[in-house]
Amino acid sequence: MAEETSKDCIFCKIASREIPVALEYEDEWVVAFKDIHPQAPIHTLIIPKVHIPKIGDIGETNGDVLVRLISTANRLARHYGIYEEGYRMVLNSGDNGGQTVYHVHVHLLGGRFMKWPPG
Ligand code: AMP
Ligand code: ZN
Repeated sequence: MAEETSKDCIFCKIASREIPVALEYEDEWVVAFKDIHPQAPIHTLIIPKVHIPKIGDIGETNGDVLVRLISTANRLARHYGIYEEGYRMVLNSGDNGGQTVYHVHVHLLGGRFMKWPPG
């Protein structure tokens, strides 16, 4: 399911810099940028540079991608100063999961208390 890029995918365009957005972080595997509709004082998206449509497509062979996404979210939580107080990562998969952009992304949410259960 993982492709290098998908030509109609907005997150591929952000990752390739075709659409210029201010990046919070970038390395060989991932980029991170602020969500355009923030749901918390801190709301950053971390995405892989490769196109994987949804978290439901991730299997044992994609372990590297997942570790990169989560470790980058942790790194950013430290950078934002919310590591100690806590934060939430959200991964929506598919329509009922609330996924709207079909390129894997981790939402990093913080800066306020997170309720449970989510809606
Ligand atoms: P999801 O609903 O889990 O697929 O999350 C997709 C997220 O991407 C939503 O929170 C949107 O606000 C966000 N989003 C969509 N387009 C952009 C964009 N161009 N720049 C930043 N965030 C975006
Ligand atoms: Zn993509």
